[in-house]
Amino acid sequence: MLKLESVRVSYGAIEAVKGVDLEVRQGEVVTIIGANGAGKSTLLKAICGLEPLAGGRIAVGGQDCASVPAHKRVGLGVAMSPEGRGVFADQTVLENLMLGAYARRSETAAIAAAVEREFTRFPRLRERHSQLAGTLSGGEQQMLAISRALMSEPRLLLLDEPSLGLAPLIIKDIFAAIRELRQSGLTILLVEQMAKQALGVADRAYVLETGRITLEGSGRELLDNPKVKAAYLGAH
Ligand code: ATP
Repeated sequence: MLKLESVRVSYGAIEAVKGVDLEVRQGEVVTIIGANGAGKSTLLKAICGLEPLAGGRIAVGGQDCASVPAHKRVGLGVAMSPEGRGVFADQTVLENLMLGAYARRSETAAIAAAVEREFTRFPRLRERHSQLAGTLSGGEQQMLAISRALMSEPRLLLLDEPSLGLAPLIIKDIFAAIRELRQSGLTILLVEQMAKQALGVADRAYVLETGRITLEGSGRELLDNPKVKAAYLGAH
């Protein structure tokens, strides 16, 4: 579904991603864990075409992405729920969801069904459908960001730190939603600092340290790995 080979991304003279090989197979939930500044967000941005590659290759569904600009990657089936949520603050919840569907050019009925599905997933969004997104709580904004990404009916969902800054109970809800999406067969690449929860939901995982993959394995293997325990699981 997704294959990265020797991917490098630079910001001027700083190389943030230094040759990453990574694969996400159909139906898998794969997580990337790593400390602040390890390059996790940069990697996701490169996958959706928001940062250019300084080297290497990215393929989605076997198709090389080099010549596919960001706005066309939705057409390849890639959708991202960005870090910091990125909802449109001065649009309502419903308007944000409709914007997520814009690339589909589907019929009104199909879009209405997708909105209904998202309102069932996150009943909070139904309750607040006419509220401006900027006035939602952090947790509600996160739910909206995920639902908005799902409105494009992606084959591959990229989630950038969905738990960031949220209360433990809301984090539980978000991870429950990720589990449900996994059961529905959606392929997910999840970037997280909440290593324990992320590894718990993941089929496979990678550890990213200063732009390089230093460990990979099943979620279970990394949960049991002494290095991972010492560096990433201590505080949770
Ligand atoms: P966090 O969990 O803190 O978001 P991260 O693993 O997602 O961290 P990135 O945001 O990808 O890390 O950042 C990787 C490195 O690239 C950092 O050193 C960061 O300062 C740098 N960086 C990120 N974005 C830019 C930018 N637009 N311009 C210059 N440097 C950047």
